[in-house]
Amino acid sequence: QAPAPGLERQAIIDLSAIANNIRHLRELAAPAQFMAVVKADAYGHGAVPVARTAVAAGAQWLGTAHITEALELRAAGLDVPVMCWLHTPQSDFTAAVANNIDLGCSGWELERIVAAARSLERPARVHLKIDTGLGRNGCPGADWPALVEAAMVHQRAGLIRVVGVFSHLAVADEPERPETDDQLERFRDAVSVAEAAGAELEVRHIANTPATLSRPDTHFDMVRVGLGVYGLSPFADRTSAQLGLVPAMTLQTRIALCKDVPAGQGVSYGLNYVTDEPTTLGLVPLGYADGIPRVATGGPVRVNGISYPVVGRIAMDQMVIDLGPHFRLASAAAADAAGGVEATAADSAGILGATAELFGNGHDGGPLVEQWAAAAGTINYEVVTRISQRVPRSYT
Ligand code: PLP
Repeated sequence: QAPAPGLERQAIIDLSAIANNIRHLRELAAPAQFMAVVKADAYGHGAVPVARTAVAAGAQWLGTAHITEALELRAAGLDVPVMCWLHTPQSDFTAAVANNIDLGCSGWELERIVAAARSLERPARVHLKIDTGLGRNGCPGADWPALVEAAMVHQRAGLIRVVGVFSHLAVADEPERPETDDQLERFRDAVSVAEAAGAELEVRHIANTPATLSRPDTHFDMVRVGLGVYGLSPFADRTSAQLGLVPAMTLQTRIALCKDVPAGQGVSYGLNYVTDEPTTLGLVPLGYADGIPRVATGGPVRVNGISYPVVGRIAMDQMVIDLGPHFRLASAAAADAAGGVEATAADSAGILGATAELFGNGHDGGPLVEQWAAAAGTINYEVVTRISQRVPRSYT
């Protein structure tokens, strides 16, 4: 599939792949409920279209990090339960409560949530977060009984309802590690404390994508799935296809220039790549301003069915692939035959303007997000999430 006319650079989002991924993951998680995590603009895929697709495919909940992200979903008319979990004292708790958004609470947020509920004369829905070992967000275990008790006081006053207890796993992507068992034990204890204090929990939740896929004992009442929704694998040793998932984002552009160069030609800033034989370079109009990591030299770009590695440094707007000596030789022969200078054979072979695919669903052996992650020394989460707003999204 080629970029639409005028869209010479685009991220194509396959919403049917997203729907299928959700149906597959829901089956694995059932009877637990399914939260589609659509923070960070749905990992770069577009929060509102993905959220609509997720709900249509059976996701009962939507999850975001920030209140602002949750409000964007409400503004788009999504009326399913929405929860968000990362706040600062400057966050707009009043808007969240007014819009019936469930709020994660690790401690200090409680009084802010209560103040918002009081001013609106409307009880807020709260999920208390226990840090079971990730050492990031969440209430430390030592402070948990006091947080639960404070929350129950406000619940008895009709200001909040403690509807959830949740936590987040640290090493679920490495299923052989023992820390997940420790986290589950602390989680069960924290749930018991809340229930003993009188909380009537609707949802206990701790599972992310890797836990949803590999540990049924983490599912509890709800799974919170991000990466898997987008068809990507959280495991280093298992592909999307092996997990029954289809990558939803295809990133492509058009070749902007083909150029025959001699041996010894330095390429891009720093001249770190030098051609070792006469060859043809192809210019790919995507760069780090589009979210391609600057360090991802070597990442694959597929043109007319062949993947070429990026050579030299990736610049703000562009990068270069080495198309090899084949076109160069062909253009020399054409020039000889014509007794003069010809267009490069790459141009006449249809490379100029050809679709250049950086990654896609991999079904036809095409390049994958994971190859870009490897080239950049990062994870697939970061590659898709960083594709910038400069790259238009289109939906199929
Ligand atoms: N839950 C929380 C609290 C998160 O921060 C995230 C994402 O980092 C998720 C769930 C979803 O994780 P994943 O993308 O691995 O499914």
